[in-house]
Amino acid sequence: MDGARDIFAIPLEDEAYLVYAPLHGVAFAATKGLVGALPGVLAGESSGDGGSGEDGGSAGDGGSREVGKGGGGGKGGGGDEENEGSVAAFAREAGLLRTPPSPVTHRRGAPSPTEVTLFLTTACNLRCTYCYASAGDTPATYMTMDVAKRGIDFVIDNARRAGAPYAGVNYHGGGEPSVHWNLMTESLAYARERAGDLAVIAASAGNGVFTDRQIDWMIANLDGGMSLSFDGLPEVHDKHRPTAQGKGSSPRVMRTMKRFTEAGYPYAVRLTVTAEQIPLLPDSIEFILSNFTPKRVQVEPAYQLGRHEGEPDAETEDFIAAYREAQVRAARFGHELIYSAARVGTLTNHFCGVTQDNFCLSPSGNVSACFEAFSEENEFADIFFYGSSGPGPDGYTFDMDALDRLRGLGVEHRSFCDGCFAKWNCAGDCYHKSLSANGRGEFAGSQRCHITRELVKDQLLTRIATSGGLIWRDGHDGEPCALHGGRDE
Ligand code: SF4
Ligand code: SF4
Repeated sequence: MDGARDIFAIPLEDEAYLVYAPLHGVAFAATKGLVGALPGVLAGESSGDGGSGEDGGSAGDGGSREVGKGGGGGKGGGGDEENEGSVAAFAREAGLLRTPPSPVTHRRGAPSPTEVTLFLTTACNLRCTYCYASAGDTPATYMTMDVAKRGIDFVIDNARRAGAPYAGVNYHGGGEPSVHWNLMTESLAYARERAGDLAVIAASAGNGVFTDRQIDWMIANLDGGMSLSFDGLPEVHDKHRPTAQGKGSSPRVMRTMKRFTEAGYPYAVRLTVTAEQIPLLPDSIEFILSNFTPKRVQVEPAYQLGRHEGEPDAETEDFIAAYREAQVRAARFGHELIYSAARVGTLTNHFCGVTQDNFCLSPSGNVSACFEAFSEENEFADIFFYGSSGPGPDGYTFDMDALDRLRGLGVEHRSFCDGCFAKWNCAGDCYHKSLSANGRGEFAGSQRCHITRELVKDQLLTRIATSGGLIWRDGHDGEPCALHGGRDE
């Protein structure tokens, strides 16, 4: 009936429904009668194409249905005229009768990023068992100052031209950025000097195994924050995140967090959960929040990539149950856990910066859009690399066909995601992950879809409960790399 409205009825228990209108920023619990009457009301208010009973959803809808699309809709589906009148009043009051703005954005023209992510090195001082990059298994590569400078010059010039409030310099990569310490510190000093009165905001991801001198510098210089990998209970962390010498790294990471906490420094923690550690997730969350003060805590099941390929799957019902229990514990500390694809409050057609001209430089100076495609050797490098240093006016030559293909990967072009109530929150999930899971063919979903929908449902029910129990309404915002965490603002 009214596909543009994107209003979904998600079955709960006992014939109750959760009605979710992501684009309107509205969710409420509903009876079968209300769900039955809504299509007629919406059809009456729309342009007259309503109630036609077209398709009941797609492969990716996860059991929900779009209100008014097939399956029990139609005028008068749930009651008499009087009932319909009150449903119409409710729908109007809830804002469901207005046409919401589209969340779809699409970049065009030559790329003009104002932030650069430098993949400083593939070397690492840890040997995590689930490392997607298998860091330490192959000869390490190191970025040079020339490569870093060229990227920094480019984004500062772009930021100036665009009148942007700041230029961004981020450190990430298939290794540990702080291992290439001189380049980290010197490149940021260069950026701040080169930027003059334009602000430079710097952030990094890291494994937390830092010296005191490094911690001092990070607190003083990485004003955009730090995303630390820490798995919770020390025994859990140490099992999967040993040093290159085979020792547990938790004492070092906890010292870093203690120092960050004492300094009031903004940092986030990311937990990676392997199948056998799922039962310990709630205790791990409690341990972190009892002892430290991260601004955000992100939880992701370990991917079966890199060193973790072939290991037991953690994307399971058990993960959902443990996450729910962990969320209950986190709530006692005033935290809502983050799972990258379940983002109620964010409306977007982009899961991450891959479709938005992410500008990341490999150690060799080539341009990748993806944090996981940090090297030209990556299996999907041909998809994610879209530029190289070259004779272009800004020191780069871009492959516009490759860039346009990346820009075209927004969720609006994924037929599997059509009809999924999480579509505008999840935005199709990590594209690198889906390539690894599905290969290069048409996206056919993954087990993460079920996790995403369950957690989106949880977030909606929590918001309804905290908004008085009847209805929740919201605004929204956007974001960078959902999977690995971006700047911690
Ligand atoms: S979310 Fe996935 S596709 Fe996007 S940058 Fe991160 S790894 Fe790459
Ligand atoms: S990838 Fe996300 S939007 Fe697409 S079907 Fe799965 S959960 Fe829904």
